[in-house]
Amino acid sequence: MALDYRANRVQHPVMSDPLDLLDRFAADDRWTSSVIRDLLIHARRPDVISLAGGLPAEELLPLERCAVAAERVLTERGAVALQYGLSAGEPELRELLTRSAQPDPERIVVTAGSQQALDLVARIASLPGESAGVVAIEDPGYLGAVQILRSHRYELVGIPVDADGLVVDVLAERIRAGLRPRLCYVNPTFQNPTGATLSAERAAQLVALAEANDFLVVADDPYVELSLEGRIPPGLPDSPNVVRLGSTSKVVSPGLRIGWLDADPRFAARMVLAKQAADLHTSTFNQLLVTDIMSDPVWWTHHLDALRDRYRTRRSALAEAVATHLPDAVVTRQDGGFFLWAELGTPVADLLPVALDHGVAFVPGSAFAIDTPAPNAVRLSYSSGDPSVFGEAVARLAAALAVTSGSTS
Ligand code: PMP
Repeated sequence: MALDYRANRVQHPVMSDPLDLLDRFAADDRWTSSVIRDLLIHARRPDVISLAGGLPAEELLPLERCAVAAERVLTERGAVALQYGLSAGEPELRELLTRSAQPDPERIVVTAGSQQALDLVARIASLPGESAGVVAIEDPGYLGAVQILRSHRYELVGIPVDADGLVVDVLAERIRAGLRPRLCYVNPTFQNPTGATLSAERAAQLVALAEANDFLVVADDPYVELSLEGRIPPGLPDSPNVVRLGSTSKVVSPGLRIGWLDADPRFAARMVLAKQAADLHTSTFNQLLVTDIMSDPVWWTHHLDALRDRYRTRRSALAEAVATHLPDAVVTRQDGGFFLWAELGTPVADLLPVALDHGVAFVPGSAFAIDTPAPNAVRLSYSSGDPSVFGEAVARLAAALAVTSGSTS
């Protein structure tokens, strides 16, 4: 029987029913659920092969190395590991994470994943007395970023992405026509969802545009270590207008929630205050755990090589399955990360429920669309599935597509 939580409540002399207030909260459309998180519920069905989520492969999570690190952290660091810590992060982790041309731990603020780093950047960049303003964002773009930026009431303007990442010429054109972005959000390397990487030329063009037009480029780069063909990702040139976000989620563990911001020390100092206000600091224990793991160069190099090997095998298996079962699909060139982006040549609006009936899950491209619909696109993830069933998964997808597109093949 459902509990009626109103039955025994104390009657306070209020003028309006408090439920009206709750209804008003419920009607606030700044808060939206990620289609992908909703989809994961179906993707867990045993009869469904999931190409939907973007989780790291479970068997690549370093359980044994974490157990060694946990033991060492507790015995060597003792109570420090379980105590409140500094809002900017543990000094040894900040030191370890400085990678820019001018290494300076003052640039680094450790956060609960790069997701929180973006949330705090969005807070800082929304100045008092001004409307939140405009964020230029890759279209299609990362859903988690869309959720955060909308929650802070930014207006999102989609800028197209092609095989070389954000089409900076389009952003430049929009700026010439009067657009005044406060931020430009990019996922420059092996982008979620398309897999594309921003070319060095475009990266330089974007940073010059930011400097000339007074906006920040927020470069969210959680896949940068997962280059599968040996290409060193170009990244963005250093500039006070560039804020980098990093994450250990794809290379150590998403559950530990360790990410960071790397920015001009003046911006990082604001970030420390925002972090303090949000949650005081990121888990001390988890930071020390990650520090132990990442400062073991032999293990770390070996681990990254193993991740790249395994993801390369998976990526190739999925790409081959797409080429075999969906020969007309156009797949965006990518050489790293977790995703393939495929244009199927026919609308996929009704495909998902039929695909689930056929036993396969994927994410429709429209879920990532900002301003420009992506009616024919799908995002297929190879990161956590079993590559030996990718052929079967894509065959099921092709069969579902044959149903929705009315083809008899
Ligand atoms: N940015 C991008 C582009 C991502 O794909 C993800 C993970 N899906 C995140 C950020 C979130 O990373 P974290 O776990 O560090 O919060």
